[in-house]
Amino acid sequence: MTTTQNPILPTRLEDLVALFDVRPTDAPTSEEERVEALRAPKFGTKFTDHMARVSWSSADGWKDRRIEQYGPLQLDPATAVLHYAQEIFEGLKAYKHADGSVWTFRPDQNAARFARSAHRLALPALSVDDFIGSLAALVRTDIDWVPDGEDSSLYLRPFMYASEVFLGVRPSLEAEYLVIASPVGPYFSGGVRPVSIYVSEEYHRSGPGGTGDAKSGGNYAASLLPQMEAQQQGFDQVCFLDAVENKYLEELGGMNVFAVLDDGTIHTPELSGTILEGVTRSSILRLAADRGYEAVERRIPLADVVTGLRSGKVKEFFACGTAAVVTPVGRLAGSNFDLEVNGGEAGELTMSIRQELTDIQYGRTEDRHGWMRRLA
Ligand SMILES: *Cc1c(COP(=O)(O)O)cnc(C)c1O
Repeated sequence: MTTTQNPILPTRLEDLVALFDVRPTDAPTSEEERVEALRAPKFGTKFTDHMARVSWSSADGWKDRRIEQYGPLQLDPATAVLHYAQEIFEGLKAYKHADGSVWTFRPDQNAARFARSAHRLALPALSVDDFIGSLAALVRTDIDWVPDGEDSSLYLRPFMYASEVFLGVRPSLEAEYLVIASPVGPYFSGGVRPVSIYVSEEYHRSGPGGTGDAKSGGNYAASLLPQMEAQQQGFDQVCFLDAVENKYLEELGGMNVFAVLDDGTIHTPELSGTILEGVTRSSILRLAADRGYEAVERRIPLADVVTGLRSGKVKEFFACGTAAVVTPVGRLAGSNFDLEVNGGEAGELTMSIRQELTDIQYGRTEDRHGWMRRLA
């Protein structure tokens, strides 16, 4: 595994930000309201005053880089995305450090993945420069919205959709790229709590040759019914299996998974084309290897996990992704098994990896891999 150094130097970042025309809202949120919104923000419910936006057409390419007032989009009912789901997104966070500076984590990885997702969904590629420039321009405009509470951050949601007004089935000749930002508090109010997971043998989120390795809204749409059914049975999340043999663990609807074994190895499903390559996943592989764990990417049969949980060989199991960072799993169940993981408690390695990752993100420990990028 290689650590990619961001090619964007601070001086260049200034130039990239300068490409965005800042058009401040004439109706900013009052300080009182903003402070209230930042007090205990529930994930994805409050948004800042502005959004970043860049428009694309096949004739002109990317144009009109701007920061404008956050607000509703007016869409013609025949806009392509509403019919054929030609859409992609990303998710990353801006963290405030003790000295007031604002940073993000490995945005070059999100930018590269956004370009890969765009390719798969037949959308235009946005450059790494525009991706990172848009984040910095928005965060600088809405800097007062970056929370400084423990485990709080400004969640950044870049996305792109097919905006051509046309019902024919072909790639859109127009697209819009936007970034919206939402202050978020700790994912688990009241401390990290192990979650329960139901392994679905009935539904799949993606298949070979499909869009499972692209970050696209359609994949999420496919995961909602299984998720709802599992919740009705009392589970927090669903884990999907491979669609061909219905045997190998893949991932949750929006998080990757890891198993920690009693022999000092840590395992995660290999990138098969049907799972999403998480930035958190690859960072954890790296941090675990740094600690001397053998970090293994392979096909993981569900049957082995079940046997391993029964025998004690599988000691910990966790899920990971930007929003919840690292989430311990305390119960894993399926059609013919229902097992506690680590006595239903959060695992030791799980929690210490979580701590290390968040310490890097909040600037509390040395960033030895050069993963952090200053935005403001
Ligand atoms: C976004 C996402 C993840 C996690 O990726 P991170 O880069 O770690 O946030 C995992 N699985 C799916 C399906 C996702 O959409």
